[in-house]
Amino acid sequence: MLKKTAINKATELAAALMEKGTLIAPVKEDAGFNFREISDAKQVDLNFHNTIISPKSAFFPQTEDFVRYQTGKSILEATPVELNIKPAFLFGVRPCDVKSFEIMDIHFSGTGLVDPYWQKRREATTVFGYAFDLDKPAEAEEFYQTLGIGAADPEGSDIFMVKKDNDLLMKAITPRGEKLLTGLNIPSEASADDEKYFDDTVAAGRNFKTRSTCVDARATAKKFEDLFHNTDFWEKMSHACLSCGACTFVCPTCYCFDICDETLFSRGTRRRVWDACMFTDFTLEASGHNPRTKVYQRLRQKVCHKYSYHVRKYGVISCVGCGRCTRYCPVNIDIFSIVEEAVKA
Ligand code: SF4
Ligand code: SF4
Repeated sequence: MLKKTAINKATELAAALMEKGTLIAPVKEDAGFNFREISDAKQVDLNFHNTIISPKSAFFPQTEDFVRYQTGKSILEATPVELNIKPAFLFGVRPCDVKSFEIMDIHFSGTGLVDPYWQKRREATTVFGYAFDLDKPAEAEEFYQTLGIGAADPEGSDIFMVKKDNDLLMKAITPRGEKLLTGLNIPSEASADDEKYFDDTVAAGRNFKTRSTCVDARATAKKFEDLFHNTDFWEKMSHACLSCGACTFVCPTCYCFDICDETLFSRGTRRRVWDACMFTDFTLEASGHNPRTKVYQRLRQKVCHKYSYHVRKYGVISCVGCGRCTRYCPVNIDIFSIVEEAVKA
């Protein structure tokens, strides 16, 4: 099913979705766009290229409280924090970011151990993918095409949206998307021309150029294995790194977290917070030993995890080429260039 609505009616569409559940959509902020829970339908702004922080926080928030307790009392008196999941709509997700959910599913639900926090949100959320604007060139940092992701790939979305002049074409991709689109009375039926435009855009998206180099997952994984002990290579790649962790916080496929206890007077909270393998104390052990004290060791971990260990273990590269890590690195360290250097080495 393909329907369409005028882009300037996106506020009405947003309001209709808010009547059915929580709407999470791109919002313009001082520093750029980010996905936020919408409290006023007018906040939704589709004039974005991509967001600063990836949409992973819709399923895996930066901080999440698990348990509340009182110090000095039995653990049996601790209170688990209720999940309180409601139907949600994640609106306007670019295809590379939609692909990241599939990769993250491996870790949060695909290996036998299920993380209920991630899984329940995934099950409750309808994903509206949104094609990149093919009339504008890709941004310099992006390389999703090299990883086999098209600029208008609908796979992974429940409903996929393509901008056509002043209209938004919306196609149901899954039964859940079909049911939702049928029940939304705002969009009007699309014409045969619209159908063709949608299909042509998806096809053109597969050839849409980002930076690209030949990345064969298995061969690249092997290259990085061979380079593991090449300290000169890793020191050269990492010499400017500040260990700030920005690259991991904006990344849609980074999933490391810490679980910590915070107490104030006698009230305690056990919470999960994002962590980053680029932080100096990420691997600091209780004994005081830290196996990754050097910057090059940490950058090597991040890159090899995505391009080597992950391929060996799960058969796929854990990177979707969104380019955020490069865009927001304060010293311009570019993971794509590291991959290119490794391929050439
Ligand atoms: S490593 Fe960089 S390019 Fe790859 S998914 Fe993460 S932020 Fe995007
Ligand atoms: S964003 Fe750049 S400087 Fe900061 S940890 Fe990542 S690679 Fe290092």
